[in-house]
Amino acid sequence: MSFSALHLSDELLKAIAEQGYTTPTAIQLEAIPAVLSGRDVMAAAQTGTGKTASFTLPMVQLLAGGESPRALHIRALVLTPTRELAAQVSESIQNYSRHLNILSAAAFGGERIEPQITKLQAGLDVLVATPGRLLDLHAQGAVQFEGLELLVLDEADRMLDLGFIDEILRVEKLLPKQRQTLMFSATLSNEVQTLAKGMFNSPLLIEVDAENSTASTIKQVIHPVNQERKSELLIDLIKRNKWHQVLVFIRTKKGADSLVRELKAAGIPAESIHANRTQHARTHALADFKSGQLVVLVATDIAARGLDVSQLPCVVNYDLPYVAEDYVHRIGRTGRAGNLGLAVSLVDEDEYKQLKSIEALIGMKFERKILRGFMPTEKAPKSEFDDAEYGCFEPDAKRKSKSRKRRR
Ligand code: AMP
Repeated sequence: MSFSALHLSDELLKAIAEQGYTTPTAIQLEAIPAVLSGRDVMAAAQTGTGKTASFTLPMVQLLAGGESPRALHIRALVLTPTRELAAQVSESIQNYSRHLNILSAAAFGGERIEPQITKLQAGLDVLVATPGRLLDLHAQGAVQFEGLELLVLDEADRMLDLGFIDEILRVEKLLPKQRQTLMFSATLSNEVQTLAKGMFNSPLLIEVDAENSTASTIKQVIHPVNQERKSELLIDLIKRNKWHQVLVFIRTKKGADSLVRELKAAGIPAESIHANRTQHARTHALADFKSGQLVVLVATDIAARGLDVSQLPCVVNYDLPYVAEDYVHRIGRTGRAGNLGLAVSLVDEDEYKQLKSIEALIGMKFERKILRGFMPTEKAPKSEFDDAEYGCFEPDAKRKSKSRKRRR
């Protein structure tokens, strides 16, 4: 099915075509008509499924048909867990509404509040914000919610993980009851459903089967290697396979900085994003990575939440996450919206326990490849010796993702 069958306006169809999208993803097929009909929606969908467009497109269409905002007022509010995600959602709204008269902006902590206050003075159609900064803006009288038509909670499960529950409930109390509410979350866990209680009016539940699609669009490989030789192996992999854009996940901020130093010393352009870096440095690093100036972006889990780099070919787990679910979030950065991706994990013997729990969660055993010259010294797991070269997949092969829908 094409986008034109979804009853989107010509202005939006034009903007979609300019983005290069031809076919709606599963979540877009389900969510766009539901949101356009004015219904509340609760959707289980991970980043990488095309979920952002599944709410920004119909939201912009609904807003374009109404009246302009009053001074200090906003017509729609999107709450996100992180600054990076707020910036990305805002960018997506601006892209899609480029042929429409829609005013939108993002507001998040770590940046000066004054320019955000200035943007709100004339009123906005959409404000994308992190909960803490939104409450600050409200406390300063910079934003008012009477007449708010639409609330979106993006990555609700992440907001709970990051401890934003009180802030979200405080924000929700400030909003008019008469509104449309949308929620997107990787899972509709009990905690998420508890948060949602009382916020929705007979919502439509949409679930997009992400687990299946993950397995079918991402090639996952394990390289057993001693901890102290990981950086050497990573440099070897990048150079030998001519990887041009690699997102590397690492557990600690210190580890991220020292890895960046080693990569740079080896002539590989690299930067890190983690909580100790300024917002300016993080934004800069992400922009340089997206534009291709950096080959490697080294990120800790928190900094990388919700990060969207379109058609990312490669993700490397420099070490395995302690929580198995984080592995799924990490590798979900590649193989996005139907493109094939490669996820490589460098695994020291101390991490075999974590590896097992990840395999149990996903329900599959990954291919193990010991690379020539990097044989682990002790307790090497049984594996066929294979150091064949492989490159990243080119983002051309498409998949069909399964989806299912049920009413509550
Ligand atoms: P999201 O799940 O919103 O983080 O989107 C994941 C990636 O897919 C983003 O880079 C989008 O730009 C891209 N995308 C979203 N919708 C489509 C589509 N219909 N066709 C191709 N790419 C898409």
